[in-house]
Amino acid sequence: MTNTQRQFKSATEHRLKTGAEFKESLIDGRQIWVGGKQIEKVTDEPALAAGVDLLASMFDDQFTDEHADATTYYDEAAKAVVSRAWQIPRTKEELVDRRKMIEYTSLKTGGTFGRPPDLAPAIAVGLYAYLPTFKKKKSLIDGIDPDFAENIERYVEYGRENNLTASESLAGPQSDRSSPKASEASLLKVKSVEKDGIRIYGAKTVGSIAAQAKEIFFTNLGGIQETPADACIWGSIPVNSEGIKLISREMVSQPGSEKFDHPIASMGEEADQFIIFDNVFVPKDRIFNLGDPTAMQYYGPVCIFAHWHVLTRLAVKAELFVGAGQLVLDYLGTGKIPAVQLMLGELIEYQQALRAFVLAAEALAKPTEGGVMAPDAGMLTAGRLYSIQHYPRIIHILQEMCGQGLVMRFGKKAYDNPEIGHYLHDLLPGHGVSAMVKEQLMNFIWDMTSGALAGRVALFENVNASPAPRLRARLYEEIKRNEFTGQVKKLAGIE
Ligand SMILES: Cc1cc2nc3c(=O)[nH]c(=O)nc-3n(C[C@H](O)[C@H](O)[C@H](O)COP(=O)(O)OP(=O)(O)OC[C@H]3O[C@@H](n4cnc5c(N)ncnc54)[C@H](O)[C@@H]3O)c2cc1C
Repeated sequence: MTNTQRQFKSATEHRLKTGAEFKESLIDGRQIWVGGKQIEKVTDEPALAAGVDLLASMFDDQFTDEHADATTYYDEAAKAVVSRAWQIPRTKEELVDRRKMIEYTSLKTGGTFGRPPDLAPAIAVGLYAYLPTFKKKKSLIDGIDPDFAENIERYVEYGRENNLTASESLAGPQSDRSSPKASEASLLKVKSVEKDGIRIYGAKTVGSIAAQAKEIFFTNLGGIQETPADACIWGSIPVNSEGIKLISREMVSQPGSEKFDHPIASMGEEADQFIIFDNVFVPKDRIFNLGDPTAMQYYGPVCIFAHWHVLTRLAVKAELFVGAGQLVLDYLGTGKIPAVQLMLGELIEYQQALRAFVLAAEALAKPTEGGVMAPDAGMLTAGRLYSIQHYPRIIHILQEMCGQGLVMRFGKKAYDNPEIGHYLHDLLPGHGVSAMVKEQLMNFIWDMTSGALAGRVALFENVNASPAPRLRARLYEEIKRNEFTGQVKKLAGIE
């Protein structure tokens, strides 16, 4: 830890974990397979381990003066300093405060982690925002009747007390989408009811960060018209629960490589997991809905804080794209060419538009029935749609601005090699910068736009919180047009 340390008089003044404590907590017997081979602990796989180190540094940052405000706050109920990830925003000011944490985690990962430690708690906050509704809901599965609202409250408190991280695993595995039976087959379903809980069977995908977090926050969504009662479930369980098996996708980052060569990809990745629930026990107090299809329709409202997170992270990333674009102009000396200025102008338009959507969603925020300040869904959905539709073009423009430099990268070892390094130093300098500094910038842009990690991230951006067609459908359903049709009728003289 390099920053000035915060002074806590005693450990009871906070509920924060250090990076080392976080890492230690993941060595818990969880079952993970990478490339078809089971690994003993999550840190045995280099890309997973590098990602864990990056997450651990976020825990350590909580103890520094520099990041204290963004990552923590004093909670009156806990009477202690706790992680901002678990803050319940009651006012617009608190919403802005919570956004600082999103901006912090987005910058820390270059926006490559879509599920950093403050994402899954945002869904718990979303459930909390509808406590009165969940209070009224009853289990429709015989033999078990948890109090959902009490469970949600207790879970948020537990998360706050334990600086908890979780994956949010909502989407179902991809199967034959033309067959409701095929999609239904892999839904999480109640298999049996026991005195203190239920046993569930099925699978979740794509559980980003699941291997590197403590809990799995789950529900079933999408793919089928009507969710059967035994699959209507919201809940959360520890990743090391018996019967949970994590199957990792192929790794795409560059752990262990020189920071110079891969400034972003060397930091590892959040490795998406296929999560098997093989007859997994879910304790009664970890169930937030059971059997009630009407509660499943709360996906939109409950996920609003997560969707705000997604858009804010993209806004931060857009700022990085503008910063990188400006440096390209500076280092290549192309800034005076009008056509090049126009390319940067398009990046700036994207960045300004995303920031405007975030600010508008907050400005139009309203308290929910549970008294939580929720950003405006219409602005968020339109902003998310805009952000993912333009993403490929923005990436293309940034690549275009770089020309050959984005491909002709040689790595630190080549520059350090006495036989060939001097050619590179002498023949490739930029405008007022050395060849190495120019390449450093290109390496950053490569990791953000063109390498394997960037490829995964681009696919993630496109679908992770609903693909564009679904967002358009959502806008059609949710945005009321009466006022606009009324204006047209009035101007057109239609009675
Ligand atoms: C890298 C990555 C990470 C992810 N991380 C997470 C995570 O952490 N947690 C999580 O819950 N989910 C995660 N997701 C999953 C994501 O939520 C889904 O991919 C998304 O909901 C789309 O569902 P699908 O992939 O099953 O698409 P499918 O249902 O298989 O459909 C394929 C395509 O057909 C079109 N389509 C299908 N149905 C419709 C429809 N009704 N209306 C309009 N168009 C339609 C869309 O273009 C869609 O992309 C992740 C996905 C990726 C790629």
